[in-house]
Amino acid sequence: MTADPGPADPRTGARSAARRVSVVGGSVIGLACAWEVARAGAADEVVVHEPDDSGPGGVPASAAAWVAGGMLAPFSEAWPGEEAVFALGVDSLRRWPEMLRALEPHVPPGPPVRTAAHTHMLAVDEADARDLDMAMDWAARQPDPTVGATRSGSGSAPGITAADLRRVTRRELREAEPSLARVARAAYRMDSEGAVDNRVLLAALTRACVAEGVTWVRSAVSSLDHVDADHVVLAAGTGSAALAGLPVRPVKGEVLRLRARPGCEDPPRGVVRAFVRGRPLYLVPREGGLVVGATQYEHGDDRQVTVAGVRDLLADAETVFPGIGEFELAETIAGLRPMSPDNLPFLGPDPTDPRLVHATGHGRNGIALTPVTAATVVAHLQGRPGPPAALAASPDRVRRG
Ligand SMILES: Cc1cc2nc3c(=O)[nH]c(=O)nc-3n(C[C@H](O)[C@H](O)[C@H](O)COP(=O)(O)OP(=O)(O)OC[C@H]3O[C@@H](n4cnc5c(N)ncnc54)[C@H](O)[C@@H]3O)c2cc1C
Repeated sequence: MTADPGPADPRTGARSAARRVSVVGGSVIGLACAWEVARAGAADEVVVHEPDDSGPGGVPASAAAWVAGGMLAPFSEAWPGEEAVFALGVDSLRRWPEMLRALEPHVPPGPPVRTAAHTHMLAVDEADARDLDMAMDWAARQPDPTVGATRSGSGSAPGITAADLRRVTRRELREAEPSLARVARAAYRMDSEGAVDNRVLLAALTRACVAEGVTWVRSAVSSLDHVDADHVVLAAGTGSAALAGLPVRPVKGEVLRLRARPGCEDPPRGVVRAFVRGRPLYLVPREGGLVVGATQYEHGDDRQVTVAGVRDLLADAETVFPGIGEFELAETIAGLRPMSPDNLPFLGPDPTDPRLVHATGHGRNGIALTPVTAATVVAHLQGRPGPPAALAASPDRVRRG
């Protein structure tokens, strides 16, 4: 086993391909990293270690990514004090169009990856309206996180800015989303956020990996020392804590998947996010239905769906979208978000083990942060500077547990 990434190209400074890269964890982050590493020619051989092939086409149905709402939501998740989280999210959002274009040939027949191209954020009571105004005002004032990105060649496309964010009147909201109840005290619209279908995404990434010659080892890694590779990319979600001592903890979330029945009211056209009775709620379009989410509990490794979770999600969803009662309750499911203490993932080289690259701890935003994560990993393996917004997510910011 060696950590030598190979000699640098005298003209570009880029290093030649690492021979074998092993990715530990084959969900959304691991698959995207494996695909982009292989596609960029940053390794001669790419291997994914993933024990769970229980979903269609061998995707991991126990992973958080199988459960997720699939929102790409740095603006609607924006919160003062989380400047670095916001900057990373905006950088990644700008990379999504290119990732979707490259994935297009690998999307299986059926629904598309992208399911919504805009988001409405609503506040139902006065206190929530004040919070929403404050958070959106803060988001609109943040500096462009990708200034300098073009200079460093990090590949983030410009174009998505706070200019796409605006406060909308009740009338504008009604015209855009006629099926919503008239409960909003304040509402904002963000063009260009939206959502992807997490399960179609996993299927497309799997097929894209196969097309690039990526192979799988279908067993869990018990120690990173046992992985025979020149570089190891750690993308094991909540499993990363045990493997690398990182402070990544499971935060449980439940979602409902609803299917439209004949005669149902049309579901919202874009993503709808709201606070109802102090609880966060989202409605995310899917082909033929929608996803309703999500609860949040610190319960350790608990993936059971509770009666109270389903009751609260349905009650809150009906407050915002009264037509929900006619939908089929097709699935209730829970997953574990891999949360870090500061809500930033761990991206980039391990400070002590030169073989190890981290791509983990994405919490509530792992789908949204997939493109910037893969770009950071590829840049490191090629010996190039990564996206500037990813510097704050460097793993050397924490002490190991
Ligand atoms: C209810 C809910 C809603 C969410 N909604 C959104 C959303 O709308 N937008 C968004 O961006 N994000 C959302 N997320 C978060 C998102 O799902 C996660 O951040 C993302 O899935 C993290 O991806 P990952 O690949 O790191 O981890 P996971 O998807 O959890 O996958 C980890 C993988 O590692 C494998 N693994 C674990 N241990 C080992 C080991 N020892 N050896 C080999 N493999 C191992 C597992 O089998 C698994 O397949 C949501 C999550 C939940 C639970």
